[in-house]
Amino acid sequence: MSTQGTGDVVVIKDLVKTFNKGKVQAVKGISFSVPRGQRLVLMGLSGSGKSTTLRMLNALNTPTSGTVEVLGQEPAKLKGKDLRHFRRRVAFIFQHFNLVGRLSAIENVLSGALGAVRGPRYGLMAYPDEMRQEAMAHLERVGLAEKAFQRANTLSGGQQQRVGIARALMQKPDLVLADEPVASLDPESSMQVMTLLKELTEEENLTVVCSLHQVELAIGWADRMIGLRGGQIVLDQDARSLSPEEASVIYTSVDPELQ
Ligand code: ADP
Ligand code: MG
Repeated sequence: MSTQGTGDVVVIKDLVKTFNKGKVQAVKGISFSVPRGQRLVLMGLSGSGKSTTLRMLNALNTPTSGTVEVLGQEPAKLKGKDLRHFRRRVAFIFQHFNLVGRLSAIENVLSGALGAVRGPRYGLMAYPDEMRQEAMAHLERVGLAEKAFQRANTLSGGQQQRVGIARALMQKPDLVLADEPVASLDPESSMQVMTLLKELTEEENLTVVCSLHQVELAIGWADRMIGLRGGQIVLDQDARSLSPEEASVIYTSVDPELQ
């Protein structure tokens, strides 16, 4: 599945992102690398810079200074065909699922493969048979084969996010980014979705960068945790040896000296 060799999938150096002409400092000079196959959680309270960081990994935001390298390329420098090709290799799982509500679950999954198909595709039958079978197989893996032809907006939140995961897998990504994938879900669905995301990315040996604000969900799920507070890294540790007390550093109020 991967076209890359070994080595780091993500390399971030001295990354800074400001908004409103520098008035808002969302990310204040962070550096870290993500080796292939690692499941990394970016943990932090609301406003700590998680989404801004993730969005720079997929060229949805451009750095103010510093560098971001993903799969050997600088996303901010890509345009047109190169950018489309890059985005095909990087799957994004959203907090609010971002499904097309009026389309069926399977059509949403198939849209993950759209980039690989030339020309517009309208309706299920416009896709080649083998692609439909592949999409169905992904829906089976997320436990939703029986909902394949149901409109996405009639599914529960947890089911919609499972479709989101199937769509990401359909992309055959080299990197999976997930921005608070369970923030809109109840605790039970959150657990189900996180477990599924762990199992499937483990099976495919995928590199994952996932933002979360709940420490208890991250412990036991991640290989490594990076804690952000006020746009800075306050923790970077093997997640298996991390205690909830250590992780609570992210909740400490931001030191005004650091602002
Ligand atoms: P998180 O995802 O951890 O909640 P964000 O990365 O969304 O944090 O936000 C970090 C900071 O940057 C916040 O203060 C937020 O208000 C600010 N911010 C994010 N995006 C923008 C934007 N487009 N314009 C202005 N400020 C922004
Ligand atoms: Mg966010």
